[in-house]
Amino acid sequence: MQFLKRLFTETCPTCQDVLQLKTDDCLSARTIKACPHGHYEKEYHPALESYIETYRS
Ligand SMILES: [Zn+2]
Repeated sequence: MQFLKRLFTETCPTCQDVLQLKTDDCLSARTIKACPHGHYEKEYHPALESYIETYRS
């Protein structure tokens, strides 16, 4: 189960904090995970079947 655990506990590349799941009622098709300190954001697009990653300084 180590592989599965790694998939679901993703961490910020800057501060290593666990990413928080953001929910947006208007855009419920999207899944956004973000660092609680605003360093990093990861957005899943079901249409593209891929993640778009955003790094903030
Ligand atoms: Zn961070």
